Amino acid sequence: MVTAFLKVGEEEPPSRLAYDNRVQPSPVAHLDGNAHRSFEEGLFWQALPAYGQLSADEFLSYRFQIKNTLSNSTPIATQKLLDFVRENAGDAFAQDVLLGLARAPMSVQITPYTLSRMDWKNPYTCPVRTQFLPLGSRLHVDHPMLTLDSLGEKADSPVPGLVHRYYDRVLFLPQSTCPVYCRFCTRSYAIGQDTQQVVKYKLEATPAAWKKAFAYIAEHPEVEDVVLSGGDFYNVAPPHVQYIGEALLNIEHVKRIRIATKGLAVNPSRILYDPAWTQAVINVANQARSRFKQVFIHTHINSAQEMTWVTRDALKVFAENGVVVRNQSVLLRGVNDTFEAMSMLVKRLGACSIQPYYVYQHDLVQGVEDLRTSLATTLQLEKQLRGVTAGFNTPTFVVDAPGGGGKRVAWSYDYYDRPTGISIFSAPSVKPGKHFFYFDPLHTLEPEVQAQWSDPAAQNVMFENALSHLHL
Ligand SMILES: *Cc1c(COP(=O)(O)O)cnc(C)c1O
Ligand code: SF4
Repeated sequence: MVTAFLKVGEEEPPSRLAYDNRVQPSPVAHLDGNAHRSFEEGLFWQALPAYGQLSADEFLSYRFQIKNTLSNSTPIATQKLLDFVRENAGDAFAQDVLLGLARAPMSVQITPYTLSRMDWKNPYTCPVRTQFLPLGSRLHVDHPMLTLDSLGEKADSPVPGLVHRYYDRVLFLPQSTCPVYCRFCTRSYAIGQDTQQVVKYKLEATPAAWKKAFAYIAEHPEVEDVVLSGGDFYNVAPPHVQYIGEALLNIEHVKRIRIATKGLAVNPSRILYDPAWTQAVINVANQARSRFKQVFIHTHINSAQEMTWVTRDALKVFAENGVVVRNQSVLLRGVNDTFEAMSMLVKRLGACSIQPYYVYQHDLVQGVEDLRTSLATTLQLEKQLRGVTAGFNTPTFVVDAPGGGGKRVAWSYDYYDRPTGISIFSAPSVKPGKHFFYFDPLHTLEPEVQAQWSDPAAQNVMFENALSHLHL
């Protein structure tokens, strides 16, 4: 879908290959110091002209955050978004965003909190900007193996909004909106508004639609674990949080519920200023505990820069109420793909009583090839990170096997060929006998191999060669 490189504004580092294969600094050099415990304090949002006068009560109120979320959902909204970008980062950068919007598979939506976490003096390299605002000049040609539903979720979906892939766990997607839209969303087939590139598959957000999912779970006694994801559970109204939570807890065999939300990352002050949602979650968690069941929150923070005193204070509320919070990150080029960034993230999560759970190899989704890293980067990071902090606070690096194999530990590949970027995984307890392929991004391959990927005959040779190395 992305067919050409655009060059607007600042140039990338000269060699993309060098970027991904660069020699990482010695991990030990970053182990001194306790910077991860220093949360940004005070009225940090006032550094931006649009928020310069706002007190904590004004800026952090849920109403302000919702009302002033910027998006490209209408032409007027897009104009506002571009005006904001122009005011903070100049005209050339705003032009680059405009080109990015035309090509992105995800719509853009960003909360004021997240806008205030962006480094507007260095917007090209800012790890927060990189996740939410596409730039025309940075988009790469897609690898030919990329799709919009790379995990094959639609194929493993017995009723709309429910994915049943693992024997004892289901993924329930009660609705399809989020407080922000991440450029790299793995569900870009369904999440967010339609874009110029993608017409979305719609999920219904009504109790009647949810009842079908509850009925399916009730009929499947093997299901013990329900992941509530989406769409983001932050966007489920508090009475519905309680309704869904209780309906699931009332199913005898459901033992564990996970509430997946980006909310703690992008609008943490809601926990402090709009207690109804938090209270509903705590009520469900209390009910679960009294029935010898468990409720967890799984959040999605990708860089330490997203976390401030507001995050810390919000997390305290869950800690005080006995709700365990875990984090799932996506490994993103230019965001958290160095030892320095990843160890800072992991240790800062720990400082907020958040347990780092998974770091995902970026899925093979279209339109965000610039954000992917090679499997080699993941392997190297895992090796460096293990030993930095408690083992239970060290995330597992996983590849969510394209085509529905489920999550596989990155180091458990059956075969990995760095030159072609092909890796092969298997999932004996999920889809026995099947092989799952992952493909490193083109920018990490030598130019002649990149050329082979655009030639179907050469692709076949690469596949055959990779398969011949498996001991079948
Ligand atoms: C990630 C996921 C789960 C949960 O997997 P865990 O490894 O237990 O975290 C369940 N179902 C689907 C479809 C998933 O993608
Ligand atoms: S919050 Fe999650 S579901 Fe929503 S856009 Fe981001 S990655 Fe996708």
